[in-house]
Amino acid sequence: MGCDYNPEQWPERVWAQDVVLMREAGITFATVGVFAWALLEPEQGRFEFGWLDRAMDLLAEGGIAVNLATATASPPPWLSRRYPQTLPVDREGRTLWPGGRQAWCPSSPVFRERAMSLVEAMATRYAEHPALAMWHVSNELGCHNGRCYCDVSAAAFQTWLRARYGDLDTLNEVWATSFWSQRYGDWAQILPPRLAPTHPNPTQSLDFARFSSDALLEYYLAERDLLRRITPDVPVTTNFMTLAHFSMLDYWRFAPEQDVISTDHYLVHIDQPTENAVRSELAFSGDLTRSLAGGGPWFLMEHSTSAVNWQPVNRAKAPGELLRTSLGHVARGADAVGYFQWRAGRAGAEKFHSGLVPHAGTDTKVWREVVQLGGILRRSTDLAGTRVHSQVGLLFDWPSRWACDLDSHPSSLVRAMDAPLALHGALWRQAVTVDPVAPTADLSAYRLLVVPTLYLVEDAAAATLHEYVAAGGHVVITYFSGIVDQNDHIRLGGYPGAFRDLLGIRTEEFFPLDSGQVVTVQPAASGPGTEAAWTRSTWTGSLWTELTHLDGATAVARYVDGPLPGQPALTRHAHGRGVAWYLGTALDDAALSTVLGRVCRDAGVQPVASVPAGVEVVRRSGDGRSFLFVLNHTPEPVRVEAHGHDLVTDTPVTGAVRIAAGGCAIIREGLVSTGSGGAGQG
Ligand SMILES: [Zn+2]
Repeated sequence: MGCDYNPEQWPERVWAQDVVLMREAGITFATVGVFAWALLEPEQGRFEFGWLDRAMDLLAEGGIAVNLATATASPPPWLSRRYPQTLPVDREGRTLWPGGRQAWCPSSPVFRERAMSLVEAMATRYAEHPALAMWHVSNELGCHNGRCYCDVSAAAFQTWLRARYGDLDTLNEVWATSFWSQRYGDWAQILPPRLAPTHPNPTQSLDFARFSSDALLEYYLAERDLLRRITPDVPVTTNFMTLAHFSMLDYWRFAPEQDVISTDHYLVHIDQPTENAVRSELAFSGDLTRSLAGGGPWFLMEHSTSAVNWQPVNRAKAPGELLRTSLGHVARGADAVGYFQWRAGRAGAEKFHSGLVPHAGTDTKVWREVVQLGGILRRSTDLAGTRVHSQVGLLFDWPSRWACDLDSHPSSLVRAMDAPLALHGALWRQAVTVDPVAPTADLSAYRLLVVPTLYLVEDAAAATLHEYVAAGGHVVITYFSGIVDQNDHIRLGGYPGAFRDLLGIRTEEFFPLDSGQVVTVQPAASGPGTEAAWTRSTWTGSLWTELTHLDGATAVARYVDGPLPGQPALTRHAHGRGVAWYLGTALDDAALSTVLGRVCRDAGVQPVASVPAGVEVVRRSGDGRSFLFVLNHTPEPVRVEAHGHDLVTDTPVTGAVRIAAGGCAIIREGLVSTGSGGAGQG
């Protein structure tokens, strides 16, 4: 367990007490120096390391490992004063000035040069320091400067496009510049998609998103390679933000370049209809981070003990929620949990962000729960290295997400993250663990794949999915998938172009629904894929409908009303030795659970355990060890069948464990599961 530690914001006389309290809480690592550039290099080329030396020495003496930031996340005021060309510019041409954080252009060679000078000085200074355990490059790359539209970035974008397309004719073809008189005659004419009179060229916007992600990747690699030269044995990470609402970087491209996958996660209450949606987003993020780590352990670098400061209303965590949130990440593969930050700040923009030591001190709910968590984690060290084994994959891709969320689409209400969260959430409610996977990944380990709103699909990924189903795999594809190729060009001949044959359908026209509009969906009474119990229920759809013709598939459910009464809403198609389902609308949660429950049974996918509604279960196992995590999100106590030892209460469990309202358990299982229970694969 660890935390961000900013000793430079506190008088030195409290540092010794910090270390004593850290040890009491069970803190074993501290992330230091994230925003310390202005103090470490008060003027160009003059370094002041004395204070950091003393803080690092204290931590080393206290047995606390340091995840040392390279301190390049926020440049000091002298830098932008002297080199104003390093400041980022937004799409409306406004300069983003110093005074906040991360005011730097990712493509700026001047910024790069100054940052590398600091990194070299840091790495040389602390290479042999006993506290140094890991390097932390920059911080939350792209959080505030993920897209820069300045002239320096424009030139870098032109260079990136030359490397991608080789010649202007190819670019003009890919960008479809015969439309609206956009044909380019010289690379220098090409700009980032700055504020325009109307809709910008979509392929230009998509390529700019790709370029912007690559610009920060290139920046990261520059820091990483320098660190590796000076300290080849020290692992390097940069903290991702695998939150559903952050989309700037293609983490599939970043992940292979990291020695340790780390991420930050905060509960986001903005636009979330229910508390359950907030919790299931955490599960999605944890699963995504695990997939980025190749299924192996990962590092939760930051989360919060309670409220944050950056939402309209910053909700404090209920008693017990700190524990449930932290263990939710551990359940999904985190082998380390870190917090932002040690002491809640006295001043600055984050002064109302919770810390491990609240403003009110240690006689507090937060501190007691921190100490409790530290004790649980100390008892749980043999969790390290165990893995979550999923039978279900969820295809997830950043370029598709970027392209889906561009404008001029059939419905601006269709957002790229809605269907992934809805389908993942429906499986989460049924205690089925899911691996988000890149569309080009090896899919053969999964019994079922879900493909939620994968708007953009490359040919290779479409072929992989066809082969997967032909070989006996099961797949569920939802509305607005397989529509365009990697250039955001429509796949002609009827939707969904990439998956028409696989699904045995052909859609001729979209009929998106208005905000709040709901249609009735009636499951078929009999036939392949139907269940007798379905006919007693009525489902509802929202957001989207489409006029779909059957071309080998069977209609499992049809619209009763709305724009397309009598037309198919859910279809099923036997393809090769497998089965492909298509869902043409956004089903209500209950109906989606019903459908996915049926699909899972078809595919032979087992839940981790049988548990009451509102109870989350995940299993980690490996090397003969098995741990069942049970998180009770309900306001009532629950009983769950288990045998072993509960690491939360440190008591034996024989037959069943009772978990208090809002409580959790980690059962070190006495009998290692071999068949059902989700541990069967891998
Ligand atoms: Zn720029």
